[in-house]
Amino acid sequence: MFTKGEVALVGAGPGDPDLLTLQAFRFIKQADVAIYDRLVSEEIMALLPSHCEKIYVGKKQADHRVPQDGINQLLVDHAKQNKKVLRLKGGDPFVFGRGGEEAQFLLANKIACHVVPGMTAASACTSYAGIPLTHRKVARSCTFITGNLQDNGALDLPWQTLNDAEQTVVFYMGIKSLPIIAKQLIAAGRKSNTPAALIRKGSHKDQQIIKGCLATLEALVVKHNIKPPSLIVIGDVVNTFADSQLKNIGYLSAN
Ligand code: SAH
Repeated sequence: MFTKGEVALVGAGPGDPDLLTLQAFRFIKQADVAIYDRLVSEEIMALLPSHCEKIYVGKKQADHRVPQDGINQLLVDHAKQNKKVLRLKGGDPFVFGRGGEEAQFLLANKIACHVVPGMTAASACTSYAGIPLTHRKVARSCTFITGNLQDNGALDLPWQTLNDAEQTVVFYMGIKSLPIIAKQLIAAGRKSNTPAALIRKGSHKDQQIIKGCLATLEALVVKHNIKPPSLIVIGDVVNTFADSQLKNIGYLSAN
């Protein structure tokens, strides 16, 4: 139950409102105030009750409209005004969403919070793009990892743990670092012809999928002028289905 003076950290999934959980839907319907990120789709925002105050806190890479400390404080301030505070985030709040930090801050301020899982981009966007994350004899493991560049422009990752040919690797926030990712994975032992895909705005009506391989994906991204939010998927699973079989978002045609 959503009680006044509490916060609900709710995962809104990758964009398509049909991918909201019923629990997320219930919390959304009860909110007095919604503090939301850029990745929450307009269709989902339209589900908020008419009395609900909406506060946008941004969250583009390197363009945080409200810095994290400010977001934490906003949540506390609104909860102290005895409201039902909805913290609405793209995907899952606990997967590259800083939801854990927000929950820690809330508890430190004696405010209870609900955590409502959402469908994380790596799972939803790949399914909708017809790419299974694991596939018998093709991919036995799957890693979700951040490609967010460090302040010095470097990307310091444990590359040697990503070199199994039967491992799918999904990069969040990886567009800018794609050249480094491709170079380092090849240096770590992945073949340069390993299939690679980029999914932009997965699950949205204007979802884009670009397929290539480690050696070619960067040039394709430049050619198509791809911007965030995009997910990069690397591994043989990318070619499980032919492009012609994916007729629509999440629809594999038998013809
Ligand atoms: N908490 C979110 C992730 C936030 S980090 C989740 O669980 O999905 C932001 C990154 O998520 C983006 O840079 C992009 O890599 C990925 N992302 C989120 N939504 C996406 C979407 N609809 N399509 C493609 N990538 C998406």
